[in-house]
Amino acid sequence: MAYKLPPKYSKAYKLSPKYSKIKKRNTVMSLVLLAVIVIAYFAVSNDVDFVKDIFNNKPPVIDTDFAVHFIDVGQGDSTLIKIHDKAILIDGGDYHKSDTVNDYLKQQEVEKLDLVVVSHFHTDHYGGLVDVIKTVPVDEVLLPDVKTENLPTNNTFRELMQTITDKKQGNEKLEVTTAKKDMTYDFDGGQLIVINQFPEFSNDDMNNTSIIVKFVYKEVSVLIAGDLEVKGENRLLDENADISSVIFKMNHHGSKTSNTLDFLRKVNADVYVITCGENNKYGHPHAKTYETLNELGAGNVYRTDKNGNIIFYSNANSGDELEVANFK
Ligand SMILES: [Zn+2]
Repeated sequence: MAYKLPPKYSKAYKLSPKYSKIKKRNTVMSLVLLAVIVIAYFAVSNDVDFVKDIFNNKPPVIDTDFAVHFIDVGQGDSTLIKIHDKAILIDGGDYHKSDTVNDYLKQQEVEKLDLVVVSHFHTDHYGGLVDVIKTVPVDEVLLPDVKTENLPTNNTFRELMQTITDKKQGNEKLEVTTAKKDMTYDFDGGQLIVINQFPEFSNDDMNNTSIIVKFVYKEVSVLIAGDLEVKGENRLLDENADISSVIFKMNHHGSKTSNTLDFLRKVNADVYVITCGENNKYGHPHAKTYETLNELGAGNVYRTDKNGNIIFYSNANSGDELEVANFK
């Protein structure tokens, strides 16, 4: 059954005064305007190729100092962070979505990935990465620490590990690192911080082994914790981890088994992103999650199933202004 948005969230794009820092650029509207111009042009020129290019429905390259792209991979996760000429990919959607991610990277002119983060070992997060790692040069892969006896045994997982091993032993000097609390990576003025990762949860629920990362660029920060569940969220609260962030990718596709009010209060985000597939069989995002967001008074909620690819970006010269665009 399709989940109906409560009225409060039906206007996902409307920014409340509290969020006036964040500007929205509705590129869909710009494309509509462009389409009108193109049709007018087509009427007089008969230039079929030109028209075809415009209607390819590909997101244009966003040329900024910093951008975080929540790629629409249906039911799954894939987040691209671009900072100057560096690129970090966190997850790659399911196995059958590798073309979507590869095409997206190509479209965004990503020729090399400086870091690939595998949040946890569920196929809707790592499946698509198999082909991405085969296709795009990768400097380093960051993996969650999971007890050997709890590692998946499916073919896709084996192929992922084989691909990483092949690349490591090849000419590319791909590095493989296991996530550890407080690790940091510096990228041209931006920093990726591994807030934590809990290997001890691997025999209980793989979701709770998700690597919790925060990317910080000037005033903008984004928190991504894969499919972390309540148990992992509570652990972060107990540890008083610094999880506050401007943008929060809601845990586990907006599931009610994650995203507690206490956790969201601590994150204290300005913008929430839910990554899920249209009419997915899990019922993500759950109504309870929306109740929690309502209770928080959260105004800016974006969903890949409704909004498509969602991109937040800012330029060094625009201070701490954050803009958002989406392409379906
Ligand atoms: Zn997932």
